[in-house]
Amino acid sequence: MVFDGHSDLLYDVTRGRLAGEKRVLERRHLRNLEAGGVEGLALALWVSAQDFWKNVPEAKGHRERTDIMLLCMKAELAECPWLELVRTAGEAERAKAAGKKYAFLTVEGMDAIGDDLSGIDRYADLGVRLGMLTWNGENLLATGAGGDPYSGLTELGRRAVRRMGERSIVMDVSHLNDGGFWDVMKTAEGPVVASHSNCRALCDVRRNLTDDQLRAIRDSGGVVGVNVHHAFVHADRERQTAEMLARHAAHMAEVMGVEHVACGFDFCEYFGPGNEGAEGLENCSQIHNLFYWLEKLGMNEKEREMVARENFLRILR
Ligand SMILES: [Zn+2]
Repeated sequence: MVFDGHSDLLYDVTRGRLAGEKRVLERRHLRNLEAGGVEGLALALWVSAQDFWKNVPEAKGHRERTDIMLLCMKAELAECPWLELVRTAGEAERAKAAGKKYAFLTVEGMDAIGDDLSGIDRYADLGVRLGMLTWNGENLLATGAGGDPYSGLTELGRRAVRRMGERSIVMDVSHLNDGGFWDVMKTAEGPVVASHSNCRALCDVRRNLTDDQLRAIRDSGGVVGVNVHHAFVHADRERQTAEMLARHAAHMAEVMGVEHVACGFDFCEYFGPGNEGAEGLENCSQIHNLFYWLEKLGMNEKEREMVARENFLRILR
């Protein structure tokens, strides 16, 4: 069984429900989740899809978008007796023992809080356990991987990191630029996570991590979740495969130790063209292909279990 530490399914839920659909997860996704052995997910509040939100008149800013997404989530969960929103790994285990899947709530970009750090308390009160300061762009806290690579966190961003620590929201550096990454490492106490990023040593894009960054995450006690998105797997189209993603995981295990390697698949084939996963990992029903290759590359059963679920859940105790 697998815990997927980064999923954008709340986006699909919101898109579907605003178009009048019901039980989006059950009708569109449950079968693949079952086939892929997904026992639980981290569901991200990601509200930066401009093309989508510009057609939602009441969604004026990130805060309104977040409120709409939360309302859609609430309505969806009310129709999904098989899925339980949890705050801790202990609650996740109890939901699993009761035969349910579980979901942690996470934030992918905190633009919605503006310059008001009480927005972090609001996230914490909702049960958010993992949070990214920014998505690819720049906000009042930090700059994302799509912006200037060198600018660090703002003063407000550093205070946000501390506030998150006080409220038990684990810092997630996927999407941060390099300057922000190292500022987080100086500021954060406790484990730092990159929920959905691969290795620059194998695919040199800004969304992936250098070996030095991997070691810094290891030293914080955190984990890195491997990401299926084709462009983060290899520069060469032919090598964007499940086998290559397994090589990223193996490289992480070599650099950090296997106890810091996890899954944050970021499946978003349902977004449409340009969002394809690697070959053999086109949607979450194919997760077993990653573990087939991990075994081929010499990872034993215990280590595969750690990558599949134990490592990430250890951070969310
Ligand atoms: Zn992302």
